[in-house]
Order: sequence, then C-alpha cells, then structure tokens
Amino acid sequence: MKAVVRHGVGDIRVEDVPEPKVQDPHDAVVRITTAAISGTDLHLVRGTLPGPRAGQVLGHEAVGVVEETGSGVRNFRPGDRVVISPTVACGTCPTCRAGLYAQCDDADPAGSRGGTVLLGGPGGAGGLDGLQAEYARVPFAHTGLVALPDSVDDGRAVLLADALPAAWFGARLAGVSGGDTVAILGAGPVGLCAVAAARHHGAGRVVVVDGLTDRLALARAQHAETVDFNSEDPVEKVREMTGGAGVDRVIEAVGVDAERPVLGPAADAVAAAGERAGHEEAYTAARDRAASVRSPDARGTWTPGDAPGLAVRWAVEMAARAGSVGILGTYPPHADRFPLGRAVRKNLTLRMGTCHHRRYLPRLVDLVASGALDPPPVLSHWAVTDDAVAAYGNLDRREPGWTKVALDIADPAPPRAPDPLWGVPED
Ligand SMILES: [Zn+2]
Repeated sequence: MKAVVRHGVGDIRVEDVPEPKVQDPHDAVVRITTAAISGTDLHLVRGTLPGPRAGQVLGHEAVGVVEETGSGVRNFRPGDRVVISPTVACGTCPTCRAGLYAQCDDADPAGSRGGTVLLGGPGGAGGLDGLQAEYARVPFAHTGLVALPDSVDDGRAVLLADALPAAWFGARLAGVSGGDTVAILGAGPVGLCAVAAARHHGAGRVVVVDGLTDRLALARAQHAETVDFNSEDPVEKVREMTGGAGVDRVIEAVGVDAERPVLGPAADAVAAAGERAGHEEAYTAARDRAASVRSPDARGTWTPGDAPGLAVRWAVEMAARAGSVGILGTYPPHADRFPLGRAVRKNLTLRMGTCHHRRYLPRLVDLVASGALDPPPVLSHWAVTDDAVAAYGNLDRREPGWTKVALDIADPAPPRAPDPLWGVPED
C-alpha cells in the first residue's frame, strides 16, 4: 500500500509499504479515507522533535472505515466510519480512567510507563506507524476509535481528529471561563480552532497573534482581534488593548518552531533584548539544541524556527498578573528555557501538555454534528497521496494561503479545488 514515510531529517517519501495486520485482540485495521498533515509532522521532518525510526509511516490525523477488528474490540465492526484518536490510550489503567489519556500507563509498546504515545509520532513516543497511508493499525481500538455520523464530512472530520480537540484542550489548560480576555499565540490550524474553543468556554474577548497576514485574515474572519507581530510589538499592543493589564488567559499554540519577527518594533525589541540579556546566543543555542541535525534544502524547506522560546516568553509577558497560561505547543524533551522569574513575580498559573484526545472527541463529534460548533475554514488544500511531499514543503515554507492540507487517500483522482466553504479569503 502507499504511505508517507520518514527516512530522516528533510527526507520523506511516498512509497509502498506492507499493509498492517491485526496483531493484538484490541487492534483494529482502518481503511483511511482522508488524512491530514499537522504541525507536529513538520517538526519531525525539520528535526526539531526527536526523530522517529527510519521508515516509520507519518501522520496522526485521519478518518476512515473499519476494515477488521480483533476479538477484544467489542464496540466496532467492519464498515463503521470513524475518526482516530492521535494519542494511544488503553482505557483501562488508572490514568486513562482519570481521563488523562495522553499519559496512559500501557500504550507504549516498548514498555515505558507513562508519557504520550502518538501514532506516527517522534522517537520515544511509541514508534507506532502513523495514518498517512491506505490502511492503519489502531491499538486499543475500543478507545482509539470514535464513531462518526454521516452528516460530518471528511473535511470537518479530519479537523476533529486533532486540531479541534487540541484547541479545546488549550482553552481548558489556560482555564478560560466566563468573560475572560484570551490571547492565542499562533494562527495555525490549532490556534484558529482555539478561537471557537475559547468562545465555547465563555471568553469575552479573543486576541490572536501571528506574523502571517493570510492566517490573521482567517482569525479576523472569525471576529477575533488580530495582532501582526511583524508590524506591531505584540506584548506592548496586547497591554495597550487591555488598559495596561494584559490578558487573563493565554493559549500558546506555536511550539518549538517559533519564528522571530522580521520587521517592525517587535523585531527591534527582540534584537535589543537579545543584546542586553544574551538572548541572541540563547535563541541560537536553543535552536541548535532543538535541531542538532538539520537538512534544509535549496529552497529553504525544512528550516527549524529561529526563536524556539519566543512564544512562551511572549505568553508570560502578555498575561495579566495572577493570570494563566496554557502551553499547547510541542517542544522536544530537552527544551529547558522558560522565563521562570517573570512568571513567579506575576503569580501566573501554568499548565501544559498533549491533548487527552479521547476525553474530548465524543463530545466534539456531537457538537460538530449538531452544528453547535463549526470548525473554522482552516483546511486550505486537498492533495492526493502522490503529491504529499510537495504539500509538506508548501506548508513547511508557510506559502501564502497554505494553512492545512488534507490528503485524499481514498480517491486517486487529481486534487479537488477547495470547496468555497473552505476557501481562503483574499487579502
Ligand atoms: Zn491507559
């Protein structure tokens, strides 16, 4: 079968691999109809997360149809349409039963107890093949699969796999509640979904910070207040917009591949602060540490972000005193720079981690199916599997208009034009 396979930093290929089989009574094999490319997949190709094993199938966001179940899977049968939980959870251990599925005791086939296991994830996260393939093996399928009604099409359902639950989790990490003013750092697919998630949790005002005008336009189309860090200093602007106080809650949806502002007062402020406090060396050292093996190509593809700690720094700076910060962005295990003194001085509450997908998925499927929650139009492109590597490259270089790509695994026909519903606004 055809799959997107990672061979090393900067080296992914579409190639034939053996079809997966049921190996354990709790496994299911799912025929994938649509998969999507996520920011975490890009970290893996840039080298800013520990590498998976060579030859591992990538991808953790997918929708499909159950093909086969093991004898221990009592709640699904072949033909059921499902969305797959990106994090693997046994459903039986104490952490799963507490709803903390991303910290399952028993998900790691290597036997380590605790720590997130992600399908198609980085080294140390289980080593399981991912979902950008014609078929996928889903361990602990009784918790790893969530049934989809036919009214939720693949374009919406593939956002239900990860972007929406991650955004929902971000609102909960940040502790968003009634009337809060919320800042979201990062207008990627998760940050854009976090606008709706923050509002569902009661946010009164939502401010979105990014440096890409096409993504900020999508945030403004949801009537979030937008701040472009390449034309304004985001910390100063957010303080000004909040009467000098800062925001009650911050959702950090950027992670290790943060980019420095290249223009405007924020670029000057980062440079000046860097000279004063040695941050310049710290940023460079942090990037080199985050991505010790780098393989950018001639077009500048697969280049790690040049300011790995900047989004977290801004989050702490723009939070109000006694406010809270939820860190949803992905960081490698050895990331160890955090503005601790500033956070302590402001009595901030900090929470962080990987989404407990299974905890939120059934409810989010219901909310989307009922129309109570409509995923924002972040899915900008459909591609066939053969074009996956080019699509990864366009997303990696943040080409204008490329927000998120769905891979039409089931249909080998040429890519569809984006549905007008999902189209990217001009400007
Ligand atoms: Zn468990």
